[in-house]
Amino acid sequence: MKEADSSQEGTDLSRRDFIKSVGIGGGLVLFGQFGINAAAWALAGDPVLKMVLVDYVKCTGCRTCETACSARNKPTSIKGKELPGLGNPLFANIRVHSFNPDVDVPNVCAMCADTPCVNACPVTPDRKTGRRALYRDQATHTIHNDSNRCIGCRSCAKACAAERTGVIIPNSVTGKPERMCTLCGGDPQCVKRCPFGALSYVEVRRDRKFYGLGPEKIAAELAKGWYGTAEFGGMK
Ligand code: SF4
Ligand code: SF4
Ligand code: SF4
Repeated sequence: MKEADSSQEGTDLSRRDFIKSVGIGGGLVLFGQFGINAAAWALAGDPVLKMVLVDYVKCTGCRTCETACSARNKPTSIKGKELPGLGNPLFANIRVHSFNPDVDVPNVCAMCADTPCVNACPVTPDRKTGRRALYRDQATHTIHNDSNRCIGCRSCAKACAAERTGVIIPNSVTGKPERMCTLCGGDPQCVKRCPFGALSYVEVRRDRKFYGLGPEKIAAELAKGWYGTAEFGGMK
């Protein structure tokens, strides 16, 4: 939590006040998922993809989104019985990366229209469905893994990390991909539970270019804009 009492002039200035004072605002909402050329996408028109959009200006790094996500997608079980409302944030599909100077970057699947993760999968497409071991579900537009066909080569995770957000984490034992956003079946819990309104569930045009960036790249740009520093200390 970074919000400070801005009345204590000269001591603690809240991040939001600081950002306002230097004239940088909501434009950065688009930065992570869409790159610097934010104008290259639109919120209307067909065909569409739905996704979770982050406003980095509003995020305080409280990590409520991780808790909400894991409670929905990776519920905790004891002796095979699920505990309602409890999950392990370590396995959330959205992860908050904290940096020094103070920048928090929630990282979630950017729903890339051109799916470099799927393209990297070496498994031959199924003759009937056309699906590799990793595929985009045409109903929800989310990325899925067919664990029966997956050989655990980790190529999808490497492609995502190299080219986009790096949200796909291979299972440490099997190498099969995990942590792809499910959009919670159309009711994103992270969006619903974020106490600061930093997350939105939006429609984006599928035929426009929008590419996610890794949290380090986003944080470095935000730190430059917010604090005017060329020096970037990396992860806290
Ligand atoms: S719940 Fe909202 S404010 Fe808290 S870390 Fe997640 S996105 Fe940021
Ligand atoms: S780990 Fe599985 S899904 Fe990912 S590229 Fe390899 S075979 Fe495809
Ligand atoms: S939409 Fe659901 S699965 Fe996706 S990051 Fe948010 S809580 Fe997790």
